[in-house]
Amino acid sequence: MSYLDKLKKAVSNFFPAHARENKDAEQTESAGPHGLPNIHVLATGGTIAGRQMGAGPRYQAGELGIEALLGAVPTVRALANIRSEQIANIGSQDMDEDIWLKLARRVNELLAQKNVDGVIITHGTDTLEETAYFLDLTVKSDKPVVLVGAMRPASAVGADGPANLFDAVVVVASPDSAARGVLVAMNGNVFEARDATKVSTTAVQAFAAPNFGPLGQVHDGRVFYWRRSDRASSRPLAFDVSGLDNLPLVGIVYGHANAPELPVKTLVEAHYRGIVSAGVGNGNLYHKVLGALADAANQGVAVVRSSRVAAGPTMRDVELDDTRYGFVAAGALNPQKARVLLQLALTKTQEPGEIQKMFDYC
Ligand code: GLU
Repeated sequence: MSYLDKLKKAVSNFFPAHARENKDAEQTESAGPHGLPNIHVLATGGTIAGRQMGAGPRYQAGELGIEALLGAVPTVRALANIRSEQIANIGSQDMDEDIWLKLARRVNELLAQKNVDGVIITHGTDTLEETAYFLDLTVKSDKPVVLVGAMRPASAVGADGPANLFDAVVVVASPDSAARGVLVAMNGNVFEARDATKVSTTAVQAFAAPNFGPLGQVHDGRVFYWRRSDRASSRPLAFDVSGLDNLPLVGIVYGHANAPELPVKTLVEAHYRGIVSAGVGNGNLYHKVLGALADAANQGVAVVRSSRVAAGPTMRDVELDDTRYGFVAAGALNPQKARVLLQLALTKTQEPGEIQKMFDYC
């Protein structure tokens, strides 16, 4: 059964008026019970799995198991056959590369199976964008992969997790979600991993895509895409991390007025292979930091200039001569995503020109 047929079947279960269109739908190897798409949920914790502690605002992220989260949205069973697996149960401030590598391997393994149509990953919102982008660069399949989180713990009044999880199932179950790269479903919006970023510490509308806007919207159990990203599908980069136990060390230094060179020097002394500068404006650097980064690049450390500014690209050779210093310009990647790409790039090369080509592509 094609994605389209599966979607029609799913819609008919949810909106019986459409049922007639599906009466001839065929079961195939990939269709599970009822001819619905087969979706695998990988749970990692976060506020979506959080439990409040008493009556105040305090809560503990990563407390509830995935079955409890799915239990809050029984209607998803009308949209898809869902299997679930707990990969971790942490607040995403504790996300690390061990879990990233485990997730990348598991997602690739699942999507290679004929009877898996897509994957959802539940995740804390703090570092959700980094995991989403890491998977975007390491998953080798056009089947939909969606990350989802929540801003209010599962036990809160008006918890947003159930609605977001429901929307994530809608997105993965849609044939229109294929070949769009890894996606993020939050508060009714669908974002591409590359541009999605957390923009509010507390609001339910916590995510935005500051450079290019959302790809689409989920409404009443259906996903509507407004555009397709030119860079979304069949990324030639598709880093293979299957044989890796760890990733190269890359740090971020934050730019500001009168910034010291100490953080850069400390990272170099600690043998970091890469440094991302969260510079000011178009990735500019306080002169002392520029000097320290130039020394670092001279010693073979890969230096990527990004910006602490919320939107807009960091462009090469504008106020600063990247070619002369051997720096790489991050383009539209924010510092935390530039760090992800640089870690992966360094698994292949340390050469700034080659790394710049990867950033130009991404
Ligand atoms: N620190 C939590 C986390 O990232 C809270 C953020 C959330 O999930 O909304 O897991």
